[in-house]
Amino acid sequence: MAVLVTGGAGYIGSHTVAELLAAGEEVVVVDSMVTGHRSAVLGGKLYEGDLRDAEWLEKVFSENDIESVIHFAASSLVGESMKDPGKYYHNNVYGTLCLLEKMVQHNVKRIVFSSTAATYGEPEQVPIEETSRTLPTNTYGETKLSMEKMIAWFEAAHGIKYVSLRYFNAAGAHESGRIGEDHRPETHLIPLILQVPLGQREHISVFGDDYPTEDGTCIRDYLHVSDLADAHLLSVKRLREGKDSAIYNLGSGNGFSVKQMIESARRITGHPIPAAVVPRREGDPAVLIASSEKAKRELGWTPKREQLETIIGSAWKWHQAHPNGYDS
Ligand code: NAD
Ligand code: UDP
Repeated sequence: MAVLVTGGAGYIGSHTVAELLAAGEEVVVVDSMVTGHRSAVLGGKLYEGDLRDAEWLEKVFSENDIESVIHFAASSLVGESMKDPGKYYHNNVYGTLCLLEKMVQHNVKRIVFSSTAATYGEPEQVPIEETSRTLPTNTYGETKLSMEKMIAWFEAAHGIKYVSLRYFNAAGAHESGRIGEDHRPETHLIPLILQVPLGQREHISVFGDDYPTEDGTCIRDYLHVSDLADAHLLSVKRLREGKDSAIYNLGSGNGFSVKQMIESARRITGHPIPAAVVPRREGDPAVLIASSEKAKRELGWTPKREQLETIIGSAWKWHQAHPNGYDS
């Protein structure tokens, strides 16, 4: 019996595959490699293709005895989603529909879904709880909310149980140093900061310092990618135990400002990392911090790598050893 991981060659997917393998699970990865990397998949069976290719997906489901699905495959760039919403509806919403239909045909009844803090939009209160209003401010978040809802309707009609995990900011790299973050283009703060000490960037741009926060820069909740991966294994376990479908936030509950992140990276790398304040990035809420109490209570999840030093330190180890990502 195998766990099917869609998008398993991507950043969070590859770290989850590593944890599944370490737990002795049989793993089948499907990935189109649009943003993934073959060498990020440390084991299991790999099928290269697109979820929207029904004939190819049929082969994957008929050749393997799949009992649960972990669904990471998606397009996830906020800016791109605003310029090309059609791409996001097609890949994310239609892609998920293709997957769910295949699960129905093959009687696969469990799915763990990668959702996002972007489903909340501008928060009414912080820390954000799962019962908070969901009002996405970009197409990416809107498609993720639609995917969550679609999965819930498939539960009503077909009995597919789900756990939707709303991640805050995934960060860091696997402790082995073998896998890490390699997004192209890179838009995330930590890898961009680390490009400065790597000599790939002159300075880091700070997107606005006039937010209503203590130092004026945006506050985010950074969570180690391996802690995130652990939550997926616990979600599969929850579904195997026959428990109800659920939605959980995943964050550390700690907020750090952009300036604090840069300062911490200076300490860790020993590099001065020049910073320049530039205008705000459109659509960035001032503060996003998760309440993950529900996940801790119901999944028994305990993040083990919460220190900022561990998060940025593991990313630094990966980027130093792989300055050109998986091409290094
Ligand atoms: P990623 O781009 O590294 O991984 C996504 C993977 O899915 C890639 O390997 C890509 O090739 C694959 N893929 C995309 N469309 C596909 C398709 N139609 N068929 C087959 N494979 C396809 O992204 P990531 O940062 O690892 O994020 C994984 C998931 O987590 C995404 O769904 C994303 O929306 C969500 N998420 C990420 C973050 C974050 O901080 N990185 C935060 C919240 C939510
Ligand atoms: N950010 C920044 N400079 C950069 C990239 C990001 O100031 O070059 C800020 C961004 O405005 C946000 C935070 O860093 O407040 C985290 O951004 P990221 O894109 O990593 O994640 P997001 O919170 O958008 O999912």
